[in-house]
Amino acid sequence: MENYADLIQKQRNFFTQGKTKDVTYRMEALGRLRLLIKQHEQELMDALKADLNKSEFDAYLTEIGILLEEIRFTMKHLKKWTKPRKVKSTIAQIGSKSYIYPEPYGVALIIAPWNYPFQLAIAPLIGAIAAGNCAILKPSELTPQTSALLSKMISNHFPEEYISVVEGDAETSTALLKEKVDYIFFTGSVPVGKIIMEAASKNLTPVTLELGGKSPCIVHEDANLKFAAKRIAWGKYINAGQTCVAPDYMYVHTSIKEEFLSELSQAIHELYGEDPITSGHFTRIVSEKHFIRLTTFLTNGTTIYGGGHDLSSLSIEPTVLSNITWADEVMQDEIFGPILPVLEYDDLSRMIDDVTARPKPLALYIFTENEGVQNQILSSISFGGGCINDTVYHLSSPYLPFGGVGESGIGAYHGKGSFEVFSHEKSILKQTTRFDLPFRYPTTKNALKKV
Ligand code: NAD
Repeated sequence: MENYADLIQKQRNFFTQGKTKDVTYRMEALGRLRLLIKQHEQELMDALKADLNKSEFDAYLTEIGILLEEIRFTMKHLKKWTKPRKVKSTIAQIGSKSYIYPEPYGVALIIAPWNYPFQLAIAPLIGAIAAGNCAILKPSELTPQTSALLSKMISNHFPEEYISVVEGDAETSTALLKEKVDYIFFTGSVPVGKIIMEAASKNLTPVTLELGGKSPCIVHEDANLKFAAKRIAWGKYINAGQTCVAPDYMYVHTSIKEEFLSELSQAIHELYGEDPITSGHFTRIVSEKHFIRLTTFLTNGTTIYGGGHDLSSLSIEPTVLSNITWADEVMQDEIFGPILPVLEYDDLSRMIDDVTARPKPLALYIFTENEGVQNQILSSISFGGGCINDTVYHLSSPYLPFGGVGESGIGAYHGKGSFEVFSHEKSILKQTTRFDLPFRYPTTKNALKKV
């Protein structure tokens, strides 16, 4: 196992010099990152195609365009975010002023997953740079082309004492986690999230954990079924369902179930065509292990759409399974693939009880025109974030902090949230020396004492 103590020490020495705290330095680094992404656009698309068979359209939408927008937004607001913020003082602190100074932690370790291998490494990096940190990125070993390209892009354009990419698998992560860093930002599975938090606890290193879980998608009896079907088909099958916030399973009101399933089948056909596997545009499953795990679910319930799969290309068709219950294998863990199980309900409160009895989801989607139903679900189920009458789209707004709750994660980022995640808020009370209030001292009388 390699030793990363030297790299981390190098970064710590560089951080101590104070360069990364200079706002101009941060802006220049963000500008360079933006330029790099633009210059490597085609190479990135090729790497994502090789690793996951991602289409250029999806690669641009979900890995490149989204980052360029995040950098633009960050650069636009960064100067304001970095300024000390004046806040109120209480009557007991009369004469003093109170401020919050955002300061960088130091060396940040960013561990990324394979499903959006470029976006989920760079999006936290934008926050780390913006907040004035040094950073080490550990991309996923399951997407080697993207990992190698990321490493090349960063090492050719940033000094390693500022930003560095360490390629490797779980063993590499473990070796990195043995060293003391100042912040750990992890995106990945719940079980590995627990390992990360345990490792961080040895040094009391603060963490953000962007995890996963089973995200429900509820279609109520009064929903606009055409829109629901299309938006669910898109959110579920983009990246072949390998999206942390993809609708994991459906809860559909019994009275509209048949009509909805027919709309859903039409929508999938419209979006992905007659034969998605051979179309060349449908993302593949990342590994044989995941392919085998997923195909075992295909015997659950009744397949009402898709179900076809091909081991040689690691592809599984967009699939819908009906007549599913919580006892089915597909309902035990996060699916993370293009298989959509459908449960039905006729009693809203009982359905809510079923969802709340399980770990808090990363995302939840509600399709209904009824504000009462929307509010009932929002107020009774705790989840990371989500949409009303849409899926997945909430994560593309820099104004909406993105993260989980409970088992789906700790902390939230995007937009100003990313700057805040990588900043410690240092609270400062600036006291007056014009007078000294006596009431806090045990030995003085209750009078204003001039000094
Ligand atoms: P993973 O947890 O297997 O791996 C994530 C990273 O951790 C990789 O870089 C991997 O090398 C490393 N790792 C693996 N085992 C490790 C160990 N024992 N110790 C230390 N590091 C280890 O996750 P994955 O399979 O790459 O990604 C899929 C999961 O990520 C899904 O659960 C998904 O929901 C979740 N995810 C969450 C978000 C989010 O933003 N909340 C985004 C994408 C994916």
